[in-house]
Amino acid sequence: SLSSDTDLSGIKERTLVAVKPDGVQRRLIGDVIKRFEQRGFRLVGLKMLQASDKLLAQHYVSLQKKPFYSSLLYYMTSGPVVAMVWEGHNVVRSSRMLVGDTDPAEASPGTIRGDYSVHISRNVVHASDSVEGAEREISLWFHCSELIDWEGCDQKNIYYI
Ligand code: GDP
Ligand code: MG
Repeated sequence: SLSSDTDLSGIKERTLVAVKPDGVQRRLIGDVIKRFEQRGFRLVGLKMLQASDKLLAQHYVSLQKKPFYSSLLYYMTSGPVVAMVWEGHNVVRSSRMLVGDTDPAEASPGTIRGDYSVHISRNVVHASDSVEGAEREISLWFHCSELIDWEGCDQKNIYYI
């Protein structure tokens, strides 16, 4: 019904997406941005940075005991990363679907990982895996002053408002 269509309480959901060092080296920044833009999500934060061990230790705190943890930090500090915050309805779940399975061998063609990678150790892109995780990661990677809450002129076409 119209009233359920107009429940847009979730359109301010945000997630952290990052083009990892292999994606930057392989000139994939533009393609990653293009996929989120053309879907209808809104970019509210964007920066290139050399991630520190300290930031990555916080970002990947749940993986500290994994055998690949030190190689993951080596990978993630091997060059610059492009971090971004995307906003929109269901953006956390939708971005996981756009990005594809963690293991590129399992990622469907059409996903970023399924189109551009073959091995789990170099899988091109990061996306938060839950709304709570996204909030935690956004606050690690961005100061609130770096996030811009702007009005999209196309919102009436993307949402029922
Ligand atoms: P994601 O949320 O899909 O990125 O996956 P996880 O949170 O489980 O893991 C974080 C990142 O660690 C992955 O994207 C990979 O870059 C890396 N990673 C995960 N599992 C492995 C593994 O078995 N071997 C290696 N080398 N890296 C891994
Ligand atoms: Mg993860």
